[in-house]
Amino acid sequence: MESLDFDTLAVRAGIARSQFNEHSEALYLTSSFVFDNAAQAAARFSGEEEGNVYARFTNPTVTAMQTRLAALEGAEACVATSSGMAAILSTVMALLQGGDHVVVSRGVFGATQQLFLGILSKFGIESTFVPATDLAAYRAAVTPKTRLFFIETPSNPLTELVDVEAVAAIAHEAGAWLAVDNCFCTPALQKPLTQGADLVIHSATKYLDGQGRVLGGAVCGPKALVEEVVKFLRTAGPCISPFNAWIILKGLETLRIRMEAQSASALALARWLEAQPGIQRVYYPGLPSHPQFDLAQRQQKSGGAIVSFEVAGGREAAWKVVDATRMVSITANLGDTKTTITHPASTTHGRIAAEAREAAGIREGLLRVAVGLEAVEDIQADLARGLAG
Ligand SMILES: *Cc1c(COP(=O)(O)O)cnc(C)c1O
Repeated sequence: MESLDFDTLAVRAGIARSQFNEHSEALYLTSSFVFDNAAQAAARFSGEEEGNVYARFTNPTVTAMQTRLAALEGAEACVATSSGMAAILSTVMALLQGGDHVVVSRGVFGATQQLFLGILSKFGIESTFVPATDLAAYRAAVTPKTRLFFIETPSNPLTELVDVEAVAAIAHEAGAWLAVDNCFCTPALQKPLTQGADLVIHSATKYLDGQGRVLGGAVCGPKALVEEVVKFLRTAGPCISPFNAWIILKGLETLRIRMEAQSASALALARWLEAQPGIQRVYYPGLPSHPQFDLAQRQQKSGGAIVSFEVAGGREAAWKVVDATRMVSITANLGDTKTTITHPASTTHGRIAAEAREAAGIREGLLRVAVGLEAVEDIQADLARGLAG
């Protein structure tokens, strides 16, 4: 299957038909599997014979989703988890131990920050957060205990890019792995494993499902590393439900088409926003005004579907834009076919002290739009209402 095009793999990889020869992938809602006899049961449990045992670690629908996502990421293996956070937690629990150290790019997802700073630290796993774009800071953060670099690119909501190739080189020189949270670009726009990363982590809840229905996550990478994560999942249990895996499996079929359409609309929206009066700055990697436009051209197929912008007039002006919308959904979620708008300073980043938030560039006038599949003219008209005057 490896030589097939991305579009072909998206609809064909991972198909394993049952005795009924169904055309669309079957959904196996079963928690356990039956053995022919006692000897087979023993062989399945010991791993001597391949096959399904119990849905905490094997289910054909989950296997299909894992196989398809691995094919799209160009990974040797993939394991699905109950959520994106479960994917990050399982990776760290499987590969690290107390005393180890992680270098994390600043601007990672809020719960990811909490996980490293508030939870993993309790178990002796220390982390250092570095500015996403400062390569010298990554180098300076390395200690003899550094085992993992964890980055997210582009960042949310300011769309800062991390240079995957450069950070991979720094990580490998330090004898550490590089894990990339590829939630925002997905393999349709960016394949970190081809740029030197060791692991790709997903919140499948976002673009992989793409229609805001289920939670899920995944870890993709070399078989040896993914198998360690599988062992953790088998014992600890944050595995994906077969139903959620089936939804994501079918979501992958339209991933490239959705990402391309949503990115094209995001670019059109970003250009339009730059031309509107009262807008101080537009953050979008596909705009030549983005400070890392060249890196974005090299590293991503397009700018992605997230656009942030800052309106003059602080919180009052920003909330006015939000409240004047009639169509765009006021919600912090992203990666849906429906466009969403959020005011980070008072929602996703509301628990951060005001001074630290300002210092991080999340100002009161900042808004983030996750562009969906509606006509871009309708999204513009919906935003224009609150920008007027
Ligand atoms: C949403 C998100 C996560 C967490 O995923 P869940 O599926 O909600 O657990 C991790 N990273 C990024 C970049 C996200 O947007």
